[in-house]
Amino acid sequence: MKLSELKTGEKAVIVKVLGHGGFRKRIIEMGFIKGKTIEVLLNAPLQDPVKYRVMGYEVSLRHQEAEQIIVTQGDESKSGDEVRGSRYEVRSTWYEDDTMHAAWREHRTITVALVGNPNCGKTSLFNYASGAHAHVGNYSGVTVDATVAHASMYGYTFLLTDLPGTYSLSCYSPEELYVRKHLSEQMPDVVINVIDASNLERNLYLTTQLMDMNLRMVCALNMYDEFERRGDSVNIDALSSLFGLPMVPTSFKSGMGLKELFRAVIQVYEGANKSVRHLHINYGHEIEDGIAQIQKFLKADEHISQHYSTRYLAIKLLEHDSDALQYIGQHLADEHRPEDRKRLLLARDVADARVKEETGQDAETAIMDAKYGFINGALKEASYQTGTKTDTYRVTHLIDHVLSNRFLGLPIFFLILFVMFQTTFALGQYPMDWIEWGIAWLGNRLSTMMADGPLRSMLIDGVIGGVGSVIVFMPQILILYFFISFMEDSGYMSRAAFIMDRLMHKMGLHGKSFIPLVIGFGCNVPAVMATRTIESRRSRLITMMILPFMSCSARLPIYIMIVGTFFAVEYRSWVMISLYAVGILLAVVVSKVLSRFVIKGEDTPFVMELPPYRFPTAKAIMRHTWEKCKEYLKKMGGIILVASIIVWGLEYFPHDDSLTQQQQQEQSYIGRMGKAIEPVFTPQGFGWKLDVSLIAGVGAKEIVASTIGVLYSGDDSFGDDDDYSQDTTKYTVLHQAMAADGITPLSAYCFLLFVLIYFPCIATIVAIKNETGSWRWACISALYTTSLAWLISAIVYQVGMLC
Ligand code: GDP
Ligand code: MG
Repeated sequence: MKLSELKTGEKAVIVKVLGHGGFRKRIIEMGFIKGKTIEVLLNAPLQDPVKYRVMGYEVSLRHQEAEQIIVTQGDESKSGDEVRGSRYEVRSTWYEDDTMHAAWREHRTITVALVGNPNCGKTSLFNYASGAHAHVGNYSGVTVDATVAHASMYGYTFLLTDLPGTYSLSCYSPEELYVRKHLSEQMPDVVINVIDASNLERNLYLTTQLMDMNLRMVCALNMYDEFERRGDSVNIDALSSLFGLPMVPTSFKSGMGLKELFRAVIQVYEGANKSVRHLHINYGHEIEDGIAQIQKFLKADEHISQHYSTRYLAIKLLEHDSDALQYIGQHLADEHRPEDRKRLLLARDVADARVKEETGQDAETAIMDAKYGFINGALKEASYQTGTKTDTYRVTHLIDHVLSNRFLGLPIFFLILFVMFQTTFALGQYPMDWIEWGIAWLGNRLSTMMADGPLRSMLIDGVIGGVGSVIVFMPQILILYFFISFMEDSGYMSRAAFIMDRLMHKMGLHGKSFIPLVIGFGCNVPAVMATRTIESRRSRLITMMILPFMSCSARLPIYIMIVGTFFAVEYRSWVMISLYAVGILLAVVVSKVLSRFVIKGEDTPFVMELPPYRFPTAKAIMRHTWEKCKEYLKKMGGIILVASIIVWGLEYFPHDDSLTQQQQQEQSYIGRMGKAIEPVFTPQGFGWKLDVSLIAGVGAKEIVASTIGVLYSGDDSFGDDDDYSQDTTKYTVLHQAMAADGITPLSAYCFLLFVLIYFPCIATIVAIKNETGSWRWACISALYTTSLAWLISAIVYQVGMLC
């Protein structure tokens, strides 16, 4: 608990002090040392300040300060308090011991944040230390969220947080802001800065920014295996002492250095490491003067100086960092001190102008230069030398010569895509057949075992039929994700984005938008999440808006079923291809329109990282694939199961045994709903059964196919079909049933168009809501796709009727 939560008269033992280095130092100097007992003497009426007794002294702390001190009362503290009188003494010693024990235990939990550039191996470290299965990928956007896991070593428990990769701590991308927010709000006890040792100079830039923040920090010089293989060398001890923090060579491919790394973390945490010192990088006297000027203002403000290192904030202000500015502006506005804000900004502008005058650069550039100067100097002193044995980048350059070639790049890329989709569908066929067989067997078993009635009907038609028609697609999804994760892990995915960059620019997007779009062919939900790599909010929004036009694999069974029913064998592939093509074309048109008229603004240029090619480890790929598999199963157990049962219930009730199946459907709830909305779809010539299936598909597109099957022929196995080769009587029967209902090949095609374009699915809409942070774009996406679907299918139908 926090010290601030303690009531008057209560005692507790100090566990740790949070906050940045300067603050912690001050508090510890006041006597707030771990393991010491503290007693609340007096709570001022407004809780501020509070008087404490610690180490025999009386000290007063403000509420805010007390909030950053973690204490414990042990498990027995309450009963201990109630014991009075002669036994108190005896009881009291025992209570102290017990509390000490709890304090010690709590003290041994260290919160650790992993910070580093993309692809430096943070997630690998995270997995290695904790045994977790977070996704490892050789691609910048894989870690999209902070993941948390435990690890235990040397009697300590580590609470690890795997943060998104960043190159710096400015506030240009969502990742950067996320990491900054985590560091200042969660206040991890120790930061592990993971560094790609084969790219020292660039990686150390982030380290210098973390140093400004005055955090307790350990560096992992990761990829040390590659570093050595290349013949690079550096004096690590010298480098450590130059930076004032422990650096440990590691390789999370083999787990090398893991133990040493965590030992260093403990030492830093316990303050037992002699080489640790807080270092101020010298930015040259012009900037240093400016920093000092600004710091004067910041130091005078207790609130600010408690939460941040004032030097760090001063640097950020000089850099014109909008986030820091906003924080300070907000704080001063809350305290009604607009004058102070003006004076602070004035001090900054004066400092900025001086820097410009004397160095000819703006402060931000000058600070950056100074940081690189510091890094270069440190590397020289630590006799850093790059070897020439086997340059990772040499191989990479060779491969890139071919794969990113001006003429060969695109054809190779499309060939890879073709192989990917071809393998997915051809190879996926076998396990699909087995699963299909298993589901049929299960349904048969149940139907012989159970008596006829609603329960049996629900289990067989609702649960097994509905969920079964979806689970069948798991093999294909797994194979698709296997390819995608291979492309990500090997480094090819960013080349693909690079190759597509020019084309994407024409659409008002960035090359990075391309990756989510490819993922969208598998499932739109992870694709929406993958847009996080796009730094520009504008490009990101547009990408999310056009993503639903990528035909996800859930739409495939519908296509197969309708195409198989209405079109002759020789035309089927073309019809299918036309659907995918229409989707892509729409994406292009819509993104052009959106970027021109709706989501306006200049696009901020941003770098596309091209990491060296690496052969991904089998383990990493297996993990990724399993992650996806789990997500898919979760979706099945949740929304699809519920939706299947609802569709079944709407169709089963009100139930009358004397009716034929056809009549039963017509008078069921779902039949009535379909009839009610029938007029809406007259321009497309759909008929109520198709309308109903469209409504059912709002939950998940997979449900459309099984609903049509159930409604037209009482056969729900259409959802399982994966190939038109099964040209059995099933299709003939369905064709007859649908043709009798007035469905022509034209309206069937319009139906497919509608399915392609309309409301993606609830899960995608929720994902868009989460990523954009508001329902606004989620609702816009749901509405405009559905309207567009209605419009396009109506136009195609009406024009087709004229021909
Ligand atoms: P993150 O983006 O920082 O989370 O990096 P990842 O943990 O996803 O790793 C990126 C890639 O580097 C993956 O392909 C890893 O297998 C690989 N990798 C991680 N650590 C090492 C290492 O120490 N040596 C080598 N050779 N490769 C590594
Ligand atoms: Mg990662």
